[in-house]
Amino acid sequence: MNHDTAIAVANVFCIANQKGGVGKTTTAINLAAALAAMDKRVLLVDLDPQGNATMGSGIDKNKVEQNLYQVLIGDSTIAQARVRSEAGGYDVLPANRELSGAEIDLIQMDQREQQLKQAIEHVLGDYDFILIDCPPTLSLLTLNGLASAHGVIIPMQCEYFALEGLSDLVNTIKRVHRNINPELQLIGLLRVMFDTRVTLQQQVSAQIETHFGDKVFKAVVPRNVRLAEAPSHGLPGIVYDKNSRGAKAYIEFGHELIKRVKKEALRQLARPRG
Ligand code: ATP
Ligand code: MG
Repeated sequence: MNHDTAIAVANVFCIANQKGGVGKTTTAINLAAALAAMDKRVLLVDLDPQGNATMGSGIDKNKVEQNLYQVLIGDSTIAQARVRSEAGGYDVLPANRELSGAEIDLIQMDQREQQLKQAIEHVLGDYDFILIDCPPTLSLLTLNGLASAHGVIIPMQCEYFALEGLSDLVNTIKRVHRNINPELQLIGLLRVMFDTRVTLQQQVSAQIETHFGDKVFKAVVPRNVRLAEAPSHGLPGIVYDKNSRGAKAYIEFGHELIKRVKKEALRQLARPRG
């Protein structure tokens, strides 16, 4: 394996957007597989009771012995609950409907928003990247994700209301940064399901670039049916059809993310201490 010293301890990133169906899970699965294909050690945490990241990684969410729910309530550890995605070449901390009960259990716990972070701390050394696929809410589960992460990756569609929804999420990230997790940063915005033929999408894309500058990833994921078909085969899109336009875009995104992480690590090193 090829481990860069600059990224020796896992980078923990949430894939988040409180809007439903914008491509979070597709991004989480394909980014995990793209990084694994570059010999990175990856854990994909499924923080959504829908369990789509689990299923899309080729793991039957209803047949796993343990899942994130037991980890969050302290009945299990990530080391015990993780499962290998043979299809993707990465580990998965699976989820299923049971996880929806976690909200209620967590409310009664001390440090209710820190449970995932505490669990992840034990496996930080096992991975180069830990990716957290968030549910489409700003719930206690998502808060656990944001409290655990170094950064947030926001997949978004270039639609009319996209920027409006984005400001809620950016404000939440700022609040979490201020009150719960000072390490949390916005890593970047990824434009997904992009259709170059739609003028409105080009306009919104340009607006996003104006607003967010170099926080916008250069890689753009096109609308591509192969990406949508892949989960029903239990495969990441980049494994299902690695020559598809969607797969190529996610591989390019993986490379771009690694470059961005290295640049950030160097900047941190250059920062004066104290
Ligand atoms: P949720 O909010 O429910 O968790 P999500 O944000 O995780 O949804 P996905 O499940 O990744 O979104 O995607 C929603 C749907 O769009 C899925 O059917 C998926 O296969 C499809 N999809 C995602 N990205 C693309 C793409 N680039 N091209 C075509 N279809 C896509
Ligand atoms: Mg999802």
